[in-house]
Amino acid sequence: MLQDKDRIFTNLYGMHERTLAGAKARGHWDGTAGIIKKGRDWIIDQMKASGLRGRGGAGFPTGLKWSFMPKESDGRPAYLVINADESEPGTCKDREIMRHDPHTLIEGALIASFAMNANTAYIYIRGEFIREREALQAAIDEAYDAGLLGKNAAKSGWDFDLFLHHGAGAYICGEETALIESLEGKKGMPRMKPPFPAGAGLYGCPTTVNNVESIAVVPTILRRGPEWFAGFGRANNAGTKLFGISGHVNNPCVVEEAMSISFEELIEKHCGGIRGGWDNLKAVIPGGSSVPCVRAENMRDAIMDFDYLRGELGSGLGTAAVIVMDQSTDIIKAIWRLSKFYKHESCGQCTPCREGTGWMMRVMDRLVKGEADVEEIDMLWDVTKQVEGHTICALGDAAAWPIQGLINNFRDEIEDRIRVNKQGKVSIAAE
Ligand code: SF4
Repeated sequence: MLQDKDRIFTNLYGMHERTLAGAKARGHWDGTAGIIKKGRDWIIDQMKASGLRGRGGAGFPTGLKWSFMPKESDGRPAYLVINADESEPGTCKDREIMRHDPHTLIEGALIASFAMNANTAYIYIRGEFIREREALQAAIDEAYDAGLLGKNAAKSGWDFDLFLHHGAGAYICGEETALIESLEGKKGMPRMKPPFPAGAGLYGCPTTVNNVESIAVVPTILRRGPEWFAGFGRANNAGTKLFGISGHVNNPCVVEEAMSISFEELIEKHCGGIRGGWDNLKAVIPGGSSVPCVRAENMRDAIMDFDYLRGELGSGLGTAAVIVMDQSTDIIKAIWRLSKFYKHESCGQCTPCREGTGWMMRVMDRLVKGEADVEEIDMLWDVTKQVEGHTICALGDAAAWPIQGLINNFRDEIEDRIRVNKQGKVSIAAE
């Protein structure tokens, strides 16, 4: 179990002051100018050595991503954009950072922006996050007043402005290019890639989009050293990580833990166990609503990191939003609800997603009631395969994968329901 001395987020539960004074007392904003004075290459090398992989879901190495930004400006400004849209069902970790430990993010934004030659950064915060926006804005204002932002930020010699932009509540604006479009004042619709944001992003300028947690951990990694961070988790899965556990556990929570902790330890140590005991566990969605669910028997010993969940279980760590479902769950209906969500949130610009999400939801609708033929399960599978990988952005995949997980793991349950429904109809007809 992660020890308190190794926690990056020391005010995750809001038990202490979230003000600048409180943050400084907990060790934040300590030697920030000194870190910046070590230079861009040093910072990026340290981030690469730490092994940090992006915490927004995709798990792309953060230091490497930063290194894609142009070293010399061609006259265009560069931007850091922080994705605080956090709209994936089940995901609720970044909000804890923003409302209780906002200075970790602000200090991280300054250092990361310097490393990418950006004098300006934007935080794009989810429309529904009203209190989080207030807390974050208050912290930004405090940082300006204290000279930590603005001209010669934190006496580092670097001029840096940080703006908080409030979204209007569309899930698709969590996709990096839709987020950029929205920030520019347009409809939040994903762009075709290439060009990638590092070449032409916000206002056509070099841009890196990073998740809140990815940026908020940066100052502590640089203060304590990349070896310290890389010391947690298995190879290629380094660091500490915020896990958000919801659903049928006795104590749902957001907790910082070492990467590669076992699922059983995570649940027993922090969540008070599964509701009704381990025999009552039915399925787990280990990484936010877009990854396939996993059956209980495969989950208990699972290692909670990118490579194990993807490689061994065909699922994913995603945002580490762990959704636990016990035997009382109607798993078909649970996945149908996700299908409904993705249909609602499709931006509609590509046909497989616009049509496919609605089609998949309507078939799921009938599977919930058992009003389908068994052959339709295979047909539904085929449709998920036609959507997956054939769309502009990852929403198509996100809509397809939960259904694939359902069919892979609970096909017997779907077939049983169809059979029971058919038998019911036959016996009613006979009466
Ligand atoms: Fe829009 Fe869906 Fe296409 Fe993404 S996959 S661009 S959400 S229609």
